[in-house]
Amino acid sequence: MTEENSRTVGPLILVGPPGAGKGTQAKRIAERYGIPQISTGDILRDNVVRGTRLGMQAKSIMARGELVPDDLVCDMVASRLRQADCERGFILDGFPRTAAQAGWLDAFFEHEFFDNAHRGKCLPIVIRIDVDYNQLLLRLTGRRSCQTCGRIYNVHSQPPRVDELCDVDGSRLVTRNDDREEVIVERLAAYQAQTRPVADYYERKGRLVSVNGDLPVEDVTAQVVRVIEDHSAVEAGKPASGA
Ligand code: AMP
Repeated sequence: MTEENSRTVGPLILVGPPGAGKGTQAKRIAERYGIPQISTGDILRDNVVRGTRLGMQAKSIMARGELVPDDLVCDMVASRLRQADCERGFILDGFPRTAAQAGWLDAFFEHEFFDNAHRGKCLPIVIRIDVDYNQLLLRLTGRRSCQTCGRIYNVHSQPPRVDELCDVDGSRLVTRNDDREEVIVERLAAYQAQTRPVADYYERKGRLVSVNGDLPVEDVTAQVVRVIEDHSAVEAGKPASGA
């Protein structure tokens, strides 16, 4: 096992508007450090496909681009975070998305999570990925994903080698139901109204770091890794790279 996937990392929270690249970055960071990516959007979509009670409650809300009620999402996140693979850390992608969810998460960390040996070590690293508004629209309208392996493409900036087919397994790529233009506008509005305050919440607590999400994917990952490493260095009492 390399040091990269044997030590505790994060927890890491990625915030940013839809299309900022949270999912793409979360996958890259998850792979690098061997910790799970927890995407509330993915878990909800999986529930919709499986037709669970939660999926049936969430389906029409998601199709409109609105947010699923806090209590449903928080319960879902609580059961996911209690799974054993989260012990060494995890990346939250798409959660918290309201100020109430952020407050709930802090209380959850404090009272329940990392309860014994890790108590006090679970202040999350919060990274906001900032992207220009017009870039966001291009990314969302061009986004295609593989339902077999989860890989994300973009017809404008990261097209597959063969049109509409996944490079990895050849499956036909799909456009997410909520990546239609009229729903995109609704999702960006939900971000402005409900999720921006989440970044403000963490900023007030001095826990927010921003990275430039307009750069190429690898460069954004490099910035995120730098933040994680600086954070780990500070925890270990070493000077951070920027110092
Ligand atoms: P995403 O894949 O993160 O863009 O999420 C897709 C959709 O799932 C959102 O537009 C919401 O309807 C729902 N969703 C995902 N995460 C949350 C959350 N933390 N709170 C409420 N709704 C969520």
